[in-house]
Amino acid sequence: MAEVHIAIIGAGPAAFYAAEYLLKSGAVVSMFELLPTPYGLVRGGVAPDHQKIKSVTKVYDRIAANPNFRYYGNVEFGRDLLHEDLPNYFHAVIYATGAQSDRHMNIPGEDLPGSHAATEFVAWYNGHPFYRDSKFDLSVKAAAVIGNGNVAMDVARILERTPEELAATDIADYALEALSHSQIETVYILGRRGPAQAAYTTPEIKELGELAAAEVIVSPQDAEIDPLSAELIQSGADRTMIGNVEAIRRYAAHEPEGKPRKIVMRFLVSPLRLIGTDHVEGIEIVKNRLVASDDGSLRPKSTGETEILPVGLVFRSIGYKGTGLPGVPFNERDGVIPNAAGRVVAQDLQIITGEYVTGWIKRGPSGIIGTNKPDSVETATNLLKDVNAGRSWHPANPHPEAVEALLETRAVDYVTYADWRALDADEVARGKALGRPRLKFTSIEEMLAAIRERRQQPTAGD
Ligand code: NAP
Repeated sequence: MAEVHIAIIGAGPAAFYAAEYLLKSGAVVSMFELLPTPYGLVRGGVAPDHQKIKSVTKVYDRIAANPNFRYYGNVEFGRDLLHEDLPNYFHAVIYATGAQSDRHMNIPGEDLPGSHAATEFVAWYNGHPFYRDSKFDLSVKAAAVIGNGNVAMDVARILERTPEELAATDIADYALEALSHSQIETVYILGRRGPAQAAYTTPEIKELGELAAAEVIVSPQDAEIDPLSAELIQSGADRTMIGNVEAIRRYAAHEPEGKPRKIVMRFLVSPLRLIGTDHVEGIEIVKNRLVASDDGSLRPKSTGETEILPVGLVFRSIGYKGTGLPGVPFNERDGVIPNAAGRVVAQDLQIITGEYVTGWIKRGPSGIIGTNKPDSVETATNLLKDVNAGRSWHPANPHPEAVEALLETRAVDYVTYADWRALDADEVARGKALGRPRLKFTSIEEMLAAIRERRQQPTAGD
């Protein structure tokens, strides 16, 4: 094909899978990322004690090795690269910016100090530069995590791991230090529905039972399954539901081992309000029962029976939420860019020429890393179909060199993939010296300083 130049905004898994497909079809791909570092939630979201999952980045490095691939880190879309610049340099753009915010509980007390988004805690312990200065009061004895998804599992696990367990991971150094002095003994995980409706997956619920110093407590009442789900389990239809319910039943049947820390799983409870004057001192919850809704799903309904749990920290873990981009249509309610199979659509549902979307900002915050591959293939396939049919932008300067010249006139200190690989090697070397898989740079200034230093070092063959 004649040179087709595609911009991708964002550098997480969905961005790389889209790039892979486009590069295989002969396109030139320029990827722009706000942070100097790539990989999105694989670096900033996946829990540090899940190093095996993080090894998927090797696949992204292979994609980036294609000579038609360019990476521009430390570039802010809307400031360094403008929406109106795009048609001058690219045939099309794919937005792959993920979900930068989170959902709120909308209950009284939610804004008290000590009440946090789980996503903030996750970004903090993963060394995300925007969250390194967050503070969590780990001197309290008990914390609550609201929600029954895999992020709730991650947060509970990281709160309850021992310093030795954490030191074996690439958790940010300041988080390792803070968590090493944590006084938290009990973490409540509060699910608004039952064990059969939990959103976490079976390996994650089982992993909670394998912590060195914490044990999972489930009361027999909490392990009870509603009759409708019991029927479903009997039918053997839903493997995840069966595995999840079995895990909870095992926890309920288990004799306490006497480990010093507890993870107490409560089901069929919703948060009503956070209690406290200048910081969280407790959470009032209400008992629910399940009722069938019109679409057949089981929804929680309050019984009116309330209870107060004495906790000093609350993490709401009820879902990520996308945020809008300058100049791009946005559906505020769902936190996504409205689209038809990856083609961005305007309010009147008309397809907008040249603009595409993939990943969480396309479909919402669901699925595992691999879910992004077919999602991105769908988007990239439609994009190439449109380009080949002439339904695209017709750029005057469809070359990476022209984009680089533009960034240089704007004095943007962009980071290349070679810069990132050098920084990556530095992080791994710093970690090795401490017997850890990696010691992350957690401030943008530090990252850029290390990159500058590396740029001045002669490379082999110089
Ligand atoms: P999630 O899977 O959508 O779970 C959200 C949880 O919050 C659900 O249990 C939901 O309950 C609950 N919830 C929603 N609104 C609530 C409210 N107002 N009050 C109480 N509870 C409420 O979201 P997530 O945990 O943020 O995970 C996002 C995605 O990343 C998921 O696809 C997840 O599997 C994935 N992820 C995977 C891993 C892994 O593979 N290890 C790790 C982290 C994240 P209802 O079901 O009742 O709505």
